[in-house]
Amino acid sequence: MNALCIIGGRVLRPDCSVENADVVIDTDTGRIHDIGEDIAADYDAAETLDADGCLVMPGLVNAHTHVAMTLLRGYADDKPLDSWLREDIWPAEAELEPEDVRAGTELGLIEMIRSGTTTFADMYFEVPEIAAAVEASGMRARLGHGIVTVAKDDAEAATDIEEGLRVAREFDGAADGRIHTAFMPHSLTTVDEKFLRESVATARENEIPLHFHANETTDEVDPIVEERDQRPLAYADELGMVSEEDFLAHGVHVDAAEIELLAERGTGVIHCPASNMKLASGIAPVQQMLDAGVTVGIGTDGAASNNDLDMFDELRDAAMLGKLGADDASAVPAEAAITAATAGSADAIGLPGGRIEEGGVADIAVVDLDAPHLAPAHDVVSHLAYAVRGSDVRHTICDGQILMRDREVLTLDEEEVVETACERAMALVERAE
Ligand SMILES: [Zn+2]
Repeated sequence: MNALCIIGGRVLRPDCSVENADVVIDTDTGRIHDIGEDIAADYDAAETLDADGCLVMPGLVNAHTHVAMTLLRGYADDKPLDSWLREDIWPAEAELEPEDVRAGTELGLIEMIRSGTTTFADMYFEVPEIAAAVEASGMRARLGHGIVTVAKDDAEAATDIEEGLRVAREFDGAADGRIHTAFMPHSLTTVDEKFLRESVATARENEIPLHFHANETTDEVDPIVEERDQRPLAYADELGMVSEEDFLAHGVHVDAAEIELLAERGTGVIHCPASNMKLASGIAPVQQMLDAGVTVGIGTDGAASNNDLDMFDELRDAAMLGKLGADDASAVPAEAAITAATAGSADAIGLPGGRIEEGGVADIAVVDLDAPHLAPAHDVVSHLAYAVRGSDVRHTICDGQILMRDREVLTLDEEEVVETACERAMALVERAE
C-alpha cells in the first residue's frame, strides 16, 4: 500500500464528534485505510500532510451548481429570476463557445478546491469540456447537459434532448470513475410536457438519474397549479421524475404533501440558500424537510446568482435562513448544516463521500483553525458552521490525491486559468451585447 498520512489534526466524525487522530489514506485505492491517534508512525508513508492546529473534515459537496457561470459573476445582479434569465443570462449563454465553458469551469474548480469542496453536481452545456476539466482537476462530479425546450422548434428541442441523453451515457464512469452523469431537464416549466414524457421514459429505461430545478419561485409553481390543478411535484411524479436516484434543486415552495412524497421516495432536495435570497425566491422549509426524513443537500447554484462557490458561506446561510424561515433559533443547527453540506449532499447526488470513516473514499478538507476569527475554540463544530471561511482551508484531497497542499492548487495552473477565464468572460459579454 502507498500511504498518504494526514498527521496531528483533529478529525470530524460523521456524528459531528471531534477526536485527535491521524488519517491514513491508501492512495492506490483512494480510500481511507485507518484513523487513530498517533498511528502515522506505524506506516511508511510515501507522502504526509501536516494538520497541526487543523480540523480534518469531509470534503464539501456542492450538490447543485452551473460551474462555468463563474464567467458571468457580477455581470447582472439585483433582478428577479425570470427577467434575469431572459434579459441577461440566456442571451450571454447563447454566445458561449466550448472554450468559454472550459475556461469558466476551470476557474470554478479552482475556487471550489481552494475552499475545500471535492465533489459537485453540475448542470450546464458543453459537457465534454466540463468532463475534461474535472478529469484534470482531480475532483469528483455528477454532470449533465441542461435542457430547455421553450422557445425552440421541435427539431431544436429534440436535438437538445438527444445531447442530454448522449452525454449521460457517454461520460458515466469517466475519469477513472470520478465522473457520473444524470439527465437534466432544466425545470418543469422550461421543458414542454411532451418532451419530458418521452425523454424521462428513455432515461428511466437506461437507468440514468434525473436532476432538475423544482418549486424554486411562486412564478414557476402557480402556473403549474392553475393549468393542471396539481402541485409541481405531483406532476413530476406522474412523469416518473421522483425516484430515489433523482435529486432536485431548490424545493423552496413545497407543501406538506410534496415533502412527504420526497421523503417517501428518497428523492434528494438541494437547498441553495444564497441563490434563493439573492433572487428573492423565498425560504425553503429545510427543518420541516429534515424532520420528515428528506435527504437534504446544499448547493451554491451558479456563481452569477450567489456570487461565489464557497460552501462554507452556503452552509452558514443554510443555518441562518433555516432559523429565519422556521421562526426558531434552534432550527437547522450547526451539525445539521454541516451534515447537509457533506453527507447529505453526497447521498442526494448519489456519489460516495461526505464522511471520514475507515474504508470510505478519501475526499477530505483540512481546515486551519489558527486564525483570529476562529479564536477561542469553545466549539469547533460551531466554528465550521458560523465562522470558518473557504480561505481557511489548507489542504484538499479527493480520491486519495492531493489537489491543494498548503493553499497551493496542484492540479490546475491557477494564474493561467484566472487570466484565460477573465479574457474569455470579457469577450463573451461583448458578443452578447
Ligand atoms: Zn440552478
